[in-house]
Amino acid sequence: MGQPGPLPDEALDALVAVLDEIRLGRSRSRAELVERTRLSRGVVAQRVSELIERGLVVEGDPGPSTGGRPPRQLSFQAHAGHLLVADLGATSIDVAATTLDGRILGHLDEPADIAAGPEAVLDRVDELFERLRTGTRGLSGRAWAIGIGVPGPVEFRTGRSISPPIMPGWDGYPVRERFTARYGSPVWLDNDVNVLALGEWRSGVAAGHDNVVVVKVGTGIGAGIISDGRLHRGAQGAAGDVGHIQIVGARAVVCRCGNTGCLEALAGGAALARDGEEAARTGRSARLAAALDRAGAVTAEDVAIAASFGDPVALELLQAAGRQIGAMLAGVVNFFNPSLIVIGGGVARSGDALLASVRETVYRRSLPLATRDLLIQRSSLGALAGVMGAAVMVADELFARDGLARWVATGVPAPDMTEAGSAA
Ligand SMILES: [Zn+2]
Repeated sequence: MGQPGPLPDEALDALVAVLDEIRLGRSRSRAELVERTRLSRGVVAQRVSELIERGLVVEGDPGPSTGGRPPRQLSFQAHAGHLLVADLGATSIDVAATTLDGRILGHLDEPADIAAGPEAVLDRVDELFERLRTGTRGLSGRAWAIGIGVPGPVEFRTGRSISPPIMPGWDGYPVRERFTARYGSPVWLDNDVNVLALGEWRSGVAAGHDNVVVVKVGTGIGAGIISDGRLHRGAQGAAGDVGHIQIVGARAVVCRCGNTGCLEALAGGAALARDGEEAARTGRSARLAAALDRAGAVTAEDVAIAASFGDPVALELLQAAGRQIGAMLAGVVNFFNPSLIVIGGGVARSGDALLASVRETVYRRSLPLATRDLLIQRSSLGALAGVMGAAVMVADELFARDGLARWVATGVPAPDMTEAGSAA
């Protein structure tokens, strides 16, 4: 394969545009590329040839003819390499090896405690990556990129967690440098909710929507925002941290962030578990008391299961959580006017009570114009949403302008060794 060296800016822009069209399945022929990118025939032909030469695009059988010579179909060579991704939750690790378009080739998961700190947790990730690399058919060479989702705020530019409330020891920890040193691959880190939003947007229920809010109700609560067809991370990467919006008039519960009356301290999974356990101890719910006797603690999942059997206390806990999440979302809807809200995360996956209550509150409390065509749906990707989203996140960075520029210059997907990339 030839190494033509760096491309001028304009050529690089065209290369990114042409690759995105083919990679995301929007254009399947040179004619479609010319029409959709508004680049000249000559430029499109040249960029397509470069992508074919580099093994990222293949030319297949002629497509349907519209008169004259039938166009040859172009497709993304998603098996040209692979990605390694990890979705770190408060209590679990999910890892996967995927194709370059995020299809899962191998998946492993195990319980974990994020509060054990970065060394212990990332050692486990290394071990699981190693098992994937040796146990997954068709993986060869090094990963083209590595993507990690974490349950806390991330400064996306430097790939570091910043003051994450439930992740002691992770503040400023150089996750990117650690993985780059070990694997020699470019590494991106983002928070778990952005990763979920990207997964739902590219491969799930949010496909085709340009303005979407994806809310994750897990142990905590957070939101990922797709705005005008792009993930909106905000100035520092903290956009969508809705779990710490204060609920006016709520009871004075202290949040893990140190403030009082935060949404997630009232309606997150940890809050449901706490309130469910109290109902069990005070004898208000026989079903939750049974769960407490069995396991020594009540989880949010126990509350959801009890509610699905019609337990009135558990139902009321989920409905109250749904009303509080809905009240926050009504404000978001008036401010942002999304066409779709997706409710995901472990708590939302189990049962309908919470979703129904969110819906009812949002429609009642938002302005009619903002809710006229608003859909509120459950996450469609289930437990694999995190790793699928992490793959989308890294593929988008790998094939974005900066990533592709390093690629073209060196002939391989290379890590960013500049100051911005390694956060010296
Ligand atoms: Zn808080």
